Amino acid sequence: MEKLTLEFARKMDGEDTLRDYRERFYPKADEIYMDGNSLGLLSKDAEACLLRVLDEWKNYGINGWEKPAKPWFYYAEEMGKMQAPLFGAKPEEIIVHSSNTVNLHSMLATFFNPVEGKDKIMIDELNFPSDRYAVESHLKMRGLDPEEKLVVIKSPDGRMLDEDHIISLMADDIAFILLPGVLYRSGQLLDMEKLTKAAHEKNIMIGFDCCHSAGSVQHEFDKWDVDFAFWCNYKYLNNGPGGTASIYINSKHFRKGPGMAGWQGFVKKKMFDMVQEFEPECSAGAWQLGTPHMLSMAPLEGSLKLFHEAGMENLREKSLKLTEYMMMLIDNILVPYGFGIGTPREAEKRGGHVALEHDDAIRINAALKSNGVVPDFRYPNVIRLAPVAMYNSFEDVWNVVNILKNIMDTREYEKYSSERGDVA
Ligand SMILES: *Cc1c(COP(=O)(O)O)cnc(C)c1O
Repeated sequence: MEKLTLEFARKMDGEDTLRDYRERFYPKADEIYMDGNSLGLLSKDAEACLLRVLDEWKNYGINGWEKPAKPWFYYAEEMGKMQAPLFGAKPEEIIVHSSNTVNLHSMLATFFNPVEGKDKIMIDELNFPSDRYAVESHLKMRGLDPEEKLVVIKSPDGRMLDEDHIISLMADDIAFILLPGVLYRSGQLLDMEKLTKAAHEKNIMIGFDCCHSAGSVQHEFDKWDVDFAFWCNYKYLNNGPGGTASIYINSKHFRKGPGMAGWQGFVKKKMFDMVQEFEPECSAGAWQLGTPHMLSMAPLEGSLKLFHEAGMENLREKSLKLTEYMMMLIDNILVPYGFGIGTPREAEKRGGHVALEHDDAIRINAALKSNGVVPDFRYPNVIRLAPVAMYNSFEDVWNVVNILKNIMDTREYEKYSSERGDVA
């Protein structure tokens, strides 16, 4: 079959209008990076922005808050504005601030307003555990027992969630719903518009953890009327390790103000009056707590330039082709070795990665690594493979699948331990 050949992969690369973006990054020549969904690669543009900000610090000292072409004082707002088109948001609805889990606490403090008869939170059993920890600790802080007040949506197969099932659980006593945009393990993309509409019919606040959809799919938060969203920027958005996270606040909620306040959320122009009564800015900026994280935000500027140049729609189109192609190769080449695919087949239900399942995933993953592939393992049986549109090629995908075939043919994986390491 022609589609299974290396020549076919190369032909696809030849037709790929985004292929030159790879050169704007630092992929290693002897490595196939398939982990951009956990930590995106460094781009030259991101590096340049970080070095520029270091230079600004060198040259301006404290005056960096005002003097540079992009003053630090407004930089988090500027990064929000740069992100807005990727999320279908107004420029003032996104702020780049703090880290993802802290921002979830802040969203809970703002949007969870329990009253008698409407005091429950709904989440799903497949979400990233940090979200569950945050929600449970928040309930306890409010004097509410998670055993009673937390509704956990079950997955029928341990991989996916069903929107209609979720909607059927939206009872009148639910006040707040948090769901992932894309599930971190299976890569399922939820219909955020449909879920939001159903939640609002029940008068429920709804928001999404978009860590795995940010930079992999286009969002239309305003059109969908989502109440809030948050995401980390170090995955598909290539902001670097521990890069500053983002918050989206629907402008209809600006007047609520933040449930957790800090001086950086004060009306910007008057912030340095240092008055004791808090007066929130009328934008997502009000949800800032402390001083903007200049050094861990700067790479995002360069990375976002690349997203604007390449176009989120083009990136999504290529990403779908890559994952489609990967699944086709897996079906044809790897399924006979006991592999399965834990990711939805439908394009509109898929994020940016493929969940490859195997009972021996730990050892196979170790063998993949020693063959120069950087995969991502999720206990107990999932190898996540993210062919990232910005810097991966169809040839990369072909190589990974054929390296896996070789690992199985030679039984190379049997050399490795089935103990897992400390990270993942
Ligand atoms: C990566 C990820 C996180 C990580 O949160 P941090 O606070 O940045 O460590 C949280 N939620 C989801 C869904 C993630 O994928």
